[in-house]
Amino acid sequence: MTEMVRAENVHKSFGSLEVLKGVDLTVPQGGVSCVLGPSGSGKSTFLRCINHLEKINAGRILVDGDLVGYRERGGKLHEMSERDVARQRQSIGMVFQRFNLFPHMTVLDNVMEAPCRVKREKKAEVRDRALSLLDRVGLAAKVDNYPAQLSGGQQQRVAIARALAMRPKLMLFDEPTSALDPELVGEVLEVMKGLARDGMTMIVVTHEIGFAREVADEVVFMDGGVVVEKGSPSEVIANPQQERTKAFLSKVL
Ligand code: ADP
Ligand code: MG
Repeated sequence: MTEMVRAENVHKSFGSLEVLKGVDLTVPQGGVSCVLGPSGSGKSTFLRCINHLEKINAGRILVDGDLVGYRERGGKLHEMSERDVARQRQSIGMVFQRFNLFPHMTVLDNVMEAPCRVKREKKAEVRDRALSLLDRVGLAAKVDNYPAQLSGGQQQRVAIARALAMRPKLMLFDEPTSALDPELVGEVLEVMKGLARDGMTMIVVTHEIGFAREVADEVVFMDGGVVVEKGSPSEVIANPQQERTKAFLSKVL
């Protein structure tokens, strides 16, 4: 099985604050990993390290076999140029808690923007792909609307379509439903379930335990900058071994 993500002994500090203290994670191609853990445990920082929005201090991360942010030459690691980092990042889609759509652009233009401007793909092709992605996330009727005319759940589905428009090989989700009104959470999770079913490799930071139980191949529980426990949902969620995992789950379940 091909490994899409391999993180080994990842360390990250901000000044004297050590936020990641040796995190390991592997996700096979097509796998879904759900990362759970209390606020401040380093989940967002870890996701940001995977697409080099944060530089790690030690360890290494590979995406689809390529070192993130570095090249190996003559046995030594060299930092990639900004341009190469940007190119590498194009293959990794990221969806945040806040949707950050461009407010002055229609839904369709939001989805077409990056492939047209960053990748300079042909407009007609991008348009076809964007329309089909918007159909896939249930927003075919909203393509000409502006973000402000959509609900939070609809905006988040546009954000997912926008990330997919770059044809990523990996999708990172950082609490994609945490900013939504409760009645809008389900529609976003449904889109994510569909993606998982279609074979997208995904790392999802979430407090939605039901989603993790149903969709995750592996559940990873982080606390204090380390992976405390990981395993299948039936291991980690239904039968946690570590006290910290039990305490956390008893609060969110
Ligand atoms: P989580 O997503 O699990 O809530 P984060 O990764 O956001 O946790 O944060 C982990 C710790 O790192 C927190 O103590 C946070 O304040 C700190 N932190 C995150 N980003 C920065 C930054 N850019 N500068 C300084 N500290 C940061
Ligand atoms: Mg976070």
